[in-house]
Amino acid sequence: MRRFDIALPETVEECLAILAARGADAKVVAGGTDLLPQMKNGQLRPAQVVDLSGVARLHALHPANGSGLRVGAAVSARRLERDAGVGRGYASLAESAALVGSVQVRNLASLGGNLCNAAPSADMAPPLMALDAEALIAGPRGERRVSMSSFFTGVRRTVLAPDELLVELVIPAPAAHSGGHYLRHTPRRELDIAVVGVASQVTLAGGVCVSARIALAAVAPTPVRATAAEAALQGQPLTPEAIERAAALAVDAAKPIDDHRGSADFRRHLVRVLTRRTLAVAHARARA
Ligand SMILES: Cc1cc2nc3c(=O)[nH]c(=O)nc-3n(C[C@H](O)[C@H](O)[C@H](O)COP(=O)(O)OP(=O)(O)OC[C@H]3O[C@@H](n4cnc5c(N)ncnc54)[C@H](O)[C@@H]3O)c2cc1C
Repeated sequence: MRRFDIALPETVEECLAILAARGADAKVVAGGTDLLPQMKNGQLRPAQVVDLSGVARLHALHPANGSGLRVGAAVSARRLERDAGVGRGYASLAESAALVGSVQVRNLASLGGNLCNAAPSADMAPPLMALDAEALIAGPRGERRVSMSSFFTGVRRTVLAPDELLVELVIPAPAAHSGGHYLRHTPRRELDIAVVGVASQVTLAGGVCVSARIALAAVAPTPVRATAAEAALQGQPLTPEAIERAAALAVDAAKPIDDHRGSADFRRHLVRVLTRRTLAVAHARARA
């Protein structure tokens, strides 16, 4: 690994000052479970690494003003998996966090790192898109908010500029009678990445679905929303037939590739199966 300087800032402002001074030479590190392998194999060669472990704001997990949840970018997957409030109100996020790597990986792996690494298979991205979360981004020109559905711009690319920092994720509180679920398929049970991941979130009122969001991982260069499937559920009772129709429509949002983990056809099949299953569980949770 090439030699690098390491900085240990304590505030977001200090991080931004280092990023501004060192430009594209600098990389921030949270858990390092993506960054360090990429540095070891020579894919990335930052001369300056900015360690986020001392920045308290990035480690906060607390209710948003009014309602909802604010999750600091450096909050670990393990904390999200084990937090009772996250499990109760934002089940799909807790479920996705519980699937990342092993316990050892989850103790290090952060939510922000998972999103900023921007792998198409990132497990925690689809639940955040289905929950309609926003990314709070800080940079030299101040702070801005970007919907998670617009955050990813390509394989390992996001809307973040090199001098910007992901500070936190702002998740609105789901309305009454809402439910969500995340499922993924991997060939191996542990330590493998998703061949397909699907998050569904539904809200019911008067016996019909008034809002549905479905997000898919590992079937396109970025995580994607299945908007035609979502629209088909709007105003409908969530019968098995309506769910099956939506699952079939979700396949249209997928642009999968063939690789050693699965063929494009297999991935399309999985989108249909996992969309059906996640919608059925989300529906049951919304009714409970
Ligand atoms: C054995 C193993 C198993 C894994 N299994 C899974 C899995 O099942 N599912 C899955 O989705 N992933 C998996 N991963 C990938 C990885 O663990 C996750 O993506 C993790 O969430 C990354 O978080 P981190 O804190 O370690 O990121 P880091 O490695 O610290 O950072 C990742 C990238 O994000 C950038 N970054 C981090 N934080 C910020 C911020 N606040 N603002 C701007 N940029 C930032 C860094 O500069 C870097 O480019 C696995 C990794 C390993 C090694």
